[in-house]
Amino acid sequence: MKTLKSMRLHIGIFGKTNVGKSSFLNKITGQDMSIVSDIAGTTTDVVEKSMELLPVGPVTFLDTAGLDDKTLLSGQRIEKTLKIINRTDIAVVICDFNGIDEYEKDLFKKFDELKIPYLVVINKCDIEQISGEKLSEIVNYTDKILITSAVSDEKIIFKFKDMLVKMLPEDFINSPKIAGDLVNEGDTVILVIPIDKEAPKGRIILPQVQTIRDLLDSNCLSYVVKETELDAAIKNLKTPPALVVTDSQAFKTVSEIVPQEIPLTSFSILFARLKGDLDAFVQGADAIASLNDGDRVLILESCTHHAIEDDIGTVKIPALLRKKTGKELTIEHYSGHDFPDITGYKLIIHCGACMTNRREILSRILLANAAGIPITNYGVVISYCLGILPRAISIFRK
Ligand code: SF4
Repeated sequence: MKTLKSMRLHIGIFGKTNVGKSSFLNKITGQDMSIVSDIAGTTTDVVEKSMELLPVGPVTFLDTAGLDDKTLLSGQRIEKTLKIINRTDIAVVICDFNGIDEYEKDLFKKFDELKIPYLVVINKCDIEQISGEKLSEIVNYTDKILITSAVSDEKIIFKFKDMLVKMLPEDFINSPKIAGDLVNEGDTVILVIPIDKEAPKGRIILPQVQTIRDLLDSNCLSYVVKETELDAAIKNLKTPPALVVTDSQAFKTVSEIVPQEIPLTSFSILFARLKGDLDAFVQGADAIASLNDGDRVLILESCTHHAIEDDIGTVKIPALLRKKTGKELTIEHYSGHDFPDITGYKLIIHCGACMTNRREILSRILLANAAGIPITNYGVVISYCLGILPRAISIFRK
């Protein structure tokens, strides 16, 4: 239960109102996590439930309201449900003996666009069996079909897990490394963590903790210092470090201290690769060179947080961008899981995404690509603006 939410498999449960989504989920999780009722539209919001689903591993179920809900505020529910798709690793579409119609077909189309694997559960077979004709219509879209009854099928959980295991994304089965694959066992890696106004009191932030853990798992030697002690740390070592990783905020100072022959990157760039697509983000940064006066740039953060005086998204990156381009840019901000209307933007700059899952960032990249808008991330933009991007990504090219 202590597995980070961002590292759990997110399973989205979709389906029309009252096909038995909540009953299905209760049967799988063994808990009454949603209000189950015969009255259409009882599930009023997205309910999240995390559990250990052996042998799959840590999962979070996202139980959505019915997209066809006609009740009050259903417009908001539908919008919310569509946004849940963006963070779904595997989608489960539940229908009953009535088969599928345009609603399910729209969902399948959306899953295909976003490359989300899906399976169909045909529920309520204790009441009526689906006809051969209706079943063939579903087979046209997928062969991953489970015909069952959340009420009477005692083997439902085993059948469901069997199907799920065969659909697990590769990056869930073999969790990608953060930095451990860039160096060898026994190598020393220096991690530079400035203790400034942005550093939380008494602790270090999640991406830094995760990187230390990754290096421990990879049998490396981690050496954690502030930028003020970095020079002494390098001189103290008998052999130079195999890699230096810095917080983006100290990139400039650190790049001046670390000798050119020692590879250097940032936590944010490591997470751009882990949580998204580093190549896409590096390509996206090219758009900075062609920004003009009046162009709109969107800074997109995955969660809301209290912005401090020197906040990276609202203060530092806008200042760096304006300085680098010399243009009068219109820089706007958006925080949260929702994906806003991106029409009219010339560039999207995403945060490090430490609190979100990889699927959500990949979906955002796909949506930005589909709209023809370049997308990049904080670490890439900072190193680009400081003129050290080639150095910061050279370790990955190797
Ligand atoms: S998810 Fe983004 S905005 Fe939220 S703490 Fe992590 S980097 Fe910052």
